[in-house]
Amino acid sequence: MPELPEVETVVRGLRAAFNEPNQIVAVEVSGKKLRVPCPPDLPTLLLDRRFTNINRRAKYILITLDNGQILVFHLGMSGRLTIAPQNPTLLHDHVKLRFNSGHWLVYNDPRRFGGVTLIPHSSALPLHPLFRSLGIEPLTPEFTADILAQILNKRTGNIKSALMNANLIVGVGNIYACEALFRAGIHPMRPAGSLSSKECEQLVGDIKSVLEEAIISGGSTLRDYVRSSGDPGYFQHSFKVYGRHKKPCEKCNSLIENLRISGRSTFYCGRCQR
Ligand SMILES: [Zn+2]
Repeated sequence: MPELPEVETVVRGLRAAFNEPNQIVAVEVSGKKLRVPCPPDLPTLLLDRRFTNINRRAKYILITLDNGQILVFHLGMSGRLTIAPQNPTLLHDHVKLRFNSGHWLVYNDPRRFGGVTLIPHSSALPLHPLFRSLGIEPLTPEFTADILAQILNKRTGNIKSALMNANLIVGVGNIYACEALFRAGIHPMRPAGSLSSKECEQLVGDIKSVLEEAIISGGSTLRDYVRSSGDPGYFQHSFKVYGRHKKPCEKCNSLIENLRISGRSTFYCGRCQR
């Protein structure tokens, strides 16, 4: 599943690809049902529009159009956005936009957990059902130790589930939650509200650094994935604990342990993480 670093990498790839004047000259939709439903009049709404800005909120890709509307893509479990030099005819292509340059932007999603929608204006974004309950962006300057302490205050559930709760903090998936907690030396089962202010400060820094490092290395995923340029695959990021069950901890040589938290496989070092 694409996580925040993959989505951010796609956003940066799209920005680079669409920094020149562009205009949508044709729109094709498959009409298949996606988790995020596509407006039936999408082709009419998008025709002749241009991309003016490309951003990200949580794992949504937000493309501002020259009329102020926002085109939203979500990659779901298996979605891919690719730029193709000619009209692609692949199975599971759901939305295809042709530009005056002759290139196509293609949204492909075999499992259809993602989707495409259009929001009338940026002012409607915060109240939109997809966005209104989203938590703080971890890579913004607003995400500080004080804010994390406020978010976790009096929470009795475990810290790992809190980090992965998108209503609290967006974009920290299973892999990055495991990695950040390892770096911070915090046991994944610790009650979230029990973290000291020093631990909050350490953890905020470690969340930011694991995400930033993954973005720099081009995102990381265990599945096949295609960048917005259409190049196949990300090279796999090296993880310190994730997927390393029974392998030696890089800090203390104890064997990495594994436990299920909220149905997700959790990797940690029982000696380094307290
Ligand atoms: Zn260790």
